Amino acid sequence: MSITRQKAIESAVQYLTGTEAEFVRGKIDEYFGMNVFGEEEMKARLPKNIYRAVRKTMEEGEPLDFSVADVVATAMSGWAVERGATHYAHIFYPLTGSTAEKHDSFYSPDGKGGLITEFSGKQLIQGEPDASSFPHGGLRATFEARGYTAWDVTSPAYIMEGRNGTTLCIPTAFCSWNGEALDKKVPLLRSMQALNRQARRVLKLFGHDDPGMITSNAGPEQEYFLIDRSLYFARPDLVSAGRTLFGAKPPKGQQLEDQYFGTIPERVLAFMMEVDTILYKLGVPVKTRHNEVAPAQYEIAPVFESSNLSTDHQQLIMQTLQRVAPRYGLACLLHEKPFAGINGSGKHLNWSLGGPRVGNLLTPGDTPHENMQFLVFCAAVIQAVNKHAVMLRGSVAGAGNDHRLGANEAPPAIISIFLGEQLDDVFRQIAAGSVKDSRRSDMLSVGVDTLPPLPKDATDRNRTSPFAFTGNRFEFRAVGSSQSIAGPQVVLNTILAETLDYVATELEKASAKDPVEFNEAVQVLLKKMINANSQVIFNGDNYAESWVSEAEKRGLPNNRNTVEALDGMDIESCYSVFEKYNVLSRGEVHSRFEIYREKYVKDVLIEADLTLNIARTMIFPAVVRHQKLLAEAATAVNAAGVQACTAALENVTALNVELQQAIKELESEIEIPDGTPGEQSHYALETLIPVVNRVREIADKLELIVADDLWPLPNYQEMLFTR
Ligand code: ADP
Ligand code: MG
Repeated sequence: MSITRQKAIESAVQYLTGTEAEFVRGKIDEYFGMNVFGEEEMKARLPKNIYRAVRKTMEEGEPLDFSVADVVATAMSGWAVERGATHYAHIFYPLTGSTAEKHDSFYSPDGKGGLITEFSGKQLIQGEPDASSFPHGGLRATFEARGYTAWDVTSPAYIMEGRNGTTLCIPTAFCSWNGEALDKKVPLLRSMQALNRQARRVLKLFGHDDPGMITSNAGPEQEYFLIDRSLYFARPDLVSAGRTLFGAKPPKGQQLEDQYFGTIPERVLAFMMEVDTILYKLGVPVKTRHNEVAPAQYEIAPVFESSNLSTDHQQLIMQTLQRVAPRYGLACLLHEKPFAGINGSGKHLNWSLGGPRVGNLLTPGDTPHENMQFLVFCAAVIQAVNKHAVMLRGSVAGAGNDHRLGANEAPPAIISIFLGEQLDDVFRQIAAGSVKDSRRSDMLSVGVDTLPPLPKDATDRNRTSPFAFTGNRFEFRAVGSSQSIAGPQVVLNTILAETLDYVATELEKASAKDPVEFNEAVQVLLKKMINANSQVIFNGDNYAESWVSEAEKRGLPNNRNTVEALDGMDIESCYSVFEKYNVLSRGEVHSRFEIYREKYVKDVLIEADLTLNIARTMIFPAVVRHQKLLAEAATAVNAAGVQACTAALENVTALNVELQQAIKELESEIEIPDGTPGEQSHYALETLIPVVNRVREIADKLELIVADDLWPLPNYQEMLFTR
């Protein structure tokens, strides 16, 4: 075993060398949310009228007055300083998908050798980070490099505790000087508004005169890997690309299936407990933690919250996982596919909509009337997903996710919906039912109360579906583990707003006052919608080979990789639906395509460069050493009159020749030709990736024959099973 690896493993064994993690003894409810400037703090610290103004902004989206902001700023900074904060930071979510923060001190020189504390409403409301190095896809002219962060009143500020101090963090939206969205939050908030507006129109027709605010909700399940940190640092590919670009399959992978829900290793459990504690203090309602299917793979899931809050909290979860891991000598891998041949990581996005007055709109009701409303919302989701499947697919595109989708461990790139037997049956009956017939029966049996009872719990599960109804929500399973959940929700909310707009417009034509007429109209509409969209419903095995051809027959799109997914989404219907519902302008949509394509090209290029470097400077020399060893042995043995080692030498030599050829080819292809991001993304996919894969293929074969003490990289077994 090489010295690097030996050292890595030695230090892995002594993980608790640092100080013991502080952990809070006591009941969770005593510290849950203690680091959040939430309801309680605001109520206690703000004058009544100011508090009311803030609530109004939070609940109804009323613009906030500067004078109000000043008072809030004073109260907020007062609270933060009491809690030891010296700095504040506007937190924003640029299109890289990560979280960005810029810290400023509360203190300024007073000109007399001392300091004054300063934090005004203006500083709270607006920041001006130099944003020139964040992706903007051509939206920002270079002479106007400035970006603006604007306080998001609907996501509470919080304190981030560090080892040597605390920082007040203020969630913000990030835009250009003329208000164009440069981040993930702005379109999410806009999509929530669009959905609210259209959902309320439909609810009015169902007799909710004042349904209150309707929001979308998200409950994201996060999968991740934990490996020993010293092994991590011995792998340049993990450090720079987030995944292993080399590595032969270990003798024991996940074939025993003994990991899922297995006992959590001691060190990992200690890590999880600290993560949970930090998140509780931040008011993130984490709930579930367990081993996942692959060795060294785990999951954390919170209770669902409104889309905006849960999206910010999701970013905090990812950040916290990565921040805490080193304290336990671990590295947290959020990449979708850190290890070839081993399950990758996803993020199941549980998504629903509702409001305090009307409840969850995707819960089947107790009465026929409620059920009718439920079926309408459900049918609207089906129509939206069918009509805009390419958008949903595009929203989870990314180089990392390409390794996962369709690889028999994650849903395919084909978007379809699983309804479950009962609900499927209900929709079939509606589709088959003739309106003329039902007209003869009495009012409510015009469709819905003659139907079988609707499913109340998520008993039947189909784990292979990308978009499954699970009793009171849909679960979108194609999201990648490293991706922000904002994008898919922006798409879901927007396309559902469009369908609800259609539903409302159709039903408003029927007089809502005449129940017979209204019920009939609902019946007709449901039938029409189901018939027009039934091809998207698939309750079978999505991993089956036959589904690909079946889906093709049905006319469902199958965009197998990021390049196809982005090309497939870059169509008029995508621009127009975003534009119509004021979620993203044409320019904003276009800029995003540019950014996502550039990001893809960069990701592939980084991997290609790393592959080249590692193959050239680590693997090739190891192979040569091994060759030399064999050659010397062969000579010595030959001198003794025995023929040996020559077959082994020939074998490794042949592979080394192949390796050198592949390296040479990679060297000549690695220059990406000038062109648009779209053209370059095709080059990356079609020309570069096959050569990169070829280098790996040969290197992985060599790993299995080169002397273990010469191999320079920690192997899969070491990384996955050093606990
Ligand atoms: P499973 O692994 O069985 O899918 P988990 O308990 O791991 O379930 O995660 C389920 C997630 O779904 C949780 O985050 C939960 O809060 C969320 N969820 C439950 N109900 C809803 C809902 N109505 N809307 C959105 N998310 C929901
Ligand atoms: Mg789960």
